[in-house]
Amino acid sequence: MKNKLKIFLASPRGFCAGVERAIDIVNKSLLKYGKPVYVRHEIVHNKQVVEELRERGAIFIEELSEIQDLTRPVIFSAHGVPKKVPEEAKLKNLSYIDATCPLVSKVHRESEQLFKNGFDIVLIGHNNHPEVIGTMGQLPAGSVKLIETAKEATSLKAEDFKKPLAYITQTTLSIDDTSEIIKILKSRFPNIKGPIKEDICYATTNRQSAVKKIAPDCDMFFVIGSKNSSNSVRLVEVAKKAGCVNSELIHFGKELPIEQIKKSKIIGISSGASAPEQLVQTLISEIEKNCEISIEEIIVAEEKVVFKLPKKLN
Ligand code: SF4
Repeated sequence: MKNKLKIFLASPRGFCAGVERAIDIVNKSLLKYGKPVYVRHEIVHNKQVVEELRERGAIFIEELSEIQDLTRPVIFSAHGVPKKVPEEAKLKNLSYIDATCPLVSKVHRESEQLFKNGFDIVLIGHNNHPEVIGTMGQLPAGSVKLIETAKEATSLKAEDFKKPLAYITQTTLSIDDTSEIIKILKSRFPNIKGPIKEDICYATTNRQSAVKKIAPDCDMFFVIGSKNSSNSVRLVEVAKKAGCVNSELIHFGKELPIEQIKKSKIIGISSGASAPEQLVQTLISEIEKNCEISIEEIIVAEEKVVFKLPKKLN
């Protein structure tokens, strides 16, 4: 007899409006311009999505110098790009389409405005993440100081900043870790200016809230998402912090711990903003082969956000 297993399914989970838009941009470009179209960097951080688009005719590159046919369009990924990338595209006379999520572009504009208004800027984010590279690349080198941890916030030196100070953040950070860092910044630099509305996006916020609500009651928690997906990795951390130590990322090629699942009574499932729902359903089917499951969806927010496509593709 199969053991009984309750599954709490987090909602919202999976694709956010920025990811839907970016994938749509690649598909619509393939329709409009034919194949191939070049895509700079993984359009979103998910292997399955990238593979499907590759099969339809997208060629993924890391730098514009890799483009062999300069007559073909190139799309910039949802994470955003440093200013020098569209500049290089113009120099090469490339036709480009920017799939940067509008919520990342908002942070770009914020940083430019702060710089123009004479602020020194601290960016809270993860070193080497493409979004951070893109945001830092909106301004001249050296104008943005990146910090990743509370410890780094504590060790910032007032004398390193000649101008008034402001902070901005990556959009996919842990809400709790970031608020701790901001608290430290505010105690050390009481006049520091922050965004009017925080930079962590609605999708990150909602997915983390849903996980936080479910994880304390779960024996195991699974987040579907790629290893390089910042928001997915954060969801695993959130689940662990909320009390489910057996929380893990289920990524391409990762084996499911079936024996452990069979011993569990309740498991939680969520997926990162770049993970297709089909992967969640496949995971549930796999579990169902071994357990008698009942599913309860825990909804913490309704999402109705839709972003417009670039004019070129309308
Ligand atoms: S996670 Fe947030 S910032 Fe990133 S693409 Fe989705 S909506 Fe945009």
